[in-house]
Amino acid sequence: MRASRYLIATQKETPSDAEIVSHQLMLRAGMIRKLAAGLYTWLPMGLRTLRKVERIVREEMDKSGAQELLMPAVQPAELWEESGRWTEYGGELLRMSDRHGREFCFGPTHEEVITDLIRNELKSYKELPANFYQIQTKFRDERRPRFGVMRAREFIMKDAYSFHVNADSLDDTYQVMHRTYCAIFDRLGLDYRPVQADSGAIGGSASHEFHVLASSGEDDIVFSTDSGYAANIEKAEAVAPAGARPAPAEDLQEVATPDQRTIEAISAFLDIDATRTVKTLLVKAEPDAEGHEGLVALILRGDHELNEVKAENLAGIAEPLTMATDAEIEAAVGCKAGSIGPVNLPVPVIVDRSAAHLADFVCGANREGYHLTGVNWERDLPLDRVEDLRNVVEGDASPDGSGTLEIRRGIEVGHIFKLGNKYSTAMNATVLDENGKTVTMEMGCYGIGVSRIVAASIEQNHDDKGIIWPDAIAPFQVVIVTLNAHKTPSVAEAGEKLHEELTQAGYDVLLDDRKERPGVKFADMELIGIPHRFVISERGLTAGTLEYKGRRDTDKQDISISDALSHLA
Ligand code: ATP
Ligand code: MG
Ligand code: MG
Ligand code: MG
Repeated sequence: MRASRYLIATQKETPSDAEIVSHQLMLRAGMIRKLAAGLYTWLPMGLRTLRKVERIVREEMDKSGAQELLMPAVQPAELWEESGRWTEYGGELLRMSDRHGREFCFGPTHEEVITDLIRNELKSYKELPANFYQIQTKFRDERRPRFGVMRAREFIMKDAYSFHVNADSLDDTYQVMHRTYCAIFDRLGLDYRPVQADSGAIGGSASHEFHVLASSGEDDIVFSTDSGYAANIEKAEAVAPAGARPAPAEDLQEVATPDQRTIEAISAFLDIDATRTVKTLLVKAEPDAEGHEGLVALILRGDHELNEVKAENLAGIAEPLTMATDAEIEAAVGCKAGSIGPVNLPVPVIVDRSAAHLADFVCGANREGYHLTGVNWERDLPLDRVEDLRNVVEGDASPDGSGTLEIRRGIEVGHIFKLGNKYSTAMNATVLDENGKTVTMEMGCYGIGVSRIVAASIEQNHDDKGIIWPDAIAPFQVVIVTLNAHKTPSVAEAGEKLHEELTQAGYDVLLDDRKERPGVKFADMELIGIPHRFVISERGLTAGTLEYKGRRDTDKQDISISDALSHLA
């Protein structure tokens, strides 16, 4: 490929709205462009890498025995009504209707469609187990699309769904998928950890997430330095010994930990996403010194964004909360006010009955006015959830009793899940077993964030000059930079010849034949992150050499022109 005929859309300036390094570099290297919030165009340079990630995922899935198919992105509402998720799924589901008024959604996931297909196609245990996958566009109307393709609204996922006559067979395929995921992430050159995850609302029996370790990750993962124990933070907390949790503050008493419905109700109530990372508790404290009775506190165990969002969200709900009676609040959140659950890692927010007080409080300007007797916010209820969990679990018996626990940030790039028979029961997906008896199929599902992986890889592979691609997913593996080629035919010719030779040998080669200054070309190719660079100059040609530099090397070296190909191997 000739760079003079290719869209090299590099940018010098760091885009101001890009918070993390992968987002900045993907924009600067000309890989993606934003169309609207959470919607990105993949430019030719970025698409090459995306396709290489897809290829690795596809090859390993094929090797595992899974069969590729392709389902429609747009799905009829009826199927989602059958599974119950038309009402359950919430705001991430993009709904639409056609000209006849029939309702559809743009698929955020495909359990319903595949279950519908399989209940019609498969009739006998003899056809099982079977595992089907696709690599396809999903849409999730994320509350806060951000970090570029990392948390987009439209993104590419590999999703697979397996069907079984019994749970043992599901176990087998689950293990195969676990190994397949490790093979995929190994080939992608990622530093990752498979961790136990909560099977949560879906109620399946097992679940693992695959996390790429990176400080910009949105999740906390916990792992033992000695044993093989590794879990995401929700799972680790769920199994942490009760004694390891901080005691509730004295003037607040325990109620049950809020269940999923409560958390969802609070999400809707406060317009925040409390469903996954935020645990919410409702408390009612003693009247304070000024006689503010019925002071209601919502304690949100938040992720790291919560501090930014709470002020505006709470300001927005000041009015309704101010008006609400205890009974109304209790009804809204579905649990009893007047007490508090076991508090882990809380980010406390107090909501008074008066909007003015609320605004003051949220801005931190007037905390003294609100005495929660005996509670020191900063000390007893620290804001930093990671530090707090450290205190809770580190040094203590760990969930499996051995080793020191470390907590690191992770980017979820894959998720495997034993679904059990949730969908097959709801949608009546059965086969006949050996005895001719009708049995409901067991199911597993397995997702990989294909487009997210591109960003996650950059988070782990970059320096101050730009991206550093591993060979496996580099848009081009080799760049040949010719110096002053437009004035020096011998340099142009040597460039063409090497380009031809390396291409023949199977490399993806970019020939930077642009009429730019050498410094500009070098900077662009380092920003784009091409792993291997050859420079051809008139001086080198006279000596029979060209210059080689690996993207991670500090020094360049002169090698004989005839050794270029063998030098790469
Ligand atoms: P997250 O916790 O990051 O919101 P999820 O648990 O909702 O992800 P899954 O339903 O498990 O996601 O989907 C499978 C995979 O799809 C995830 O492991 C992730 O890699 C990817 N993915 C999910 N949401 C997005 C998104 N908004 N943008 C890009 N990739 C995503
Ligand atoms: Mg999600
Ligand atoms: Mg997740
Ligand atoms: Mg997940």
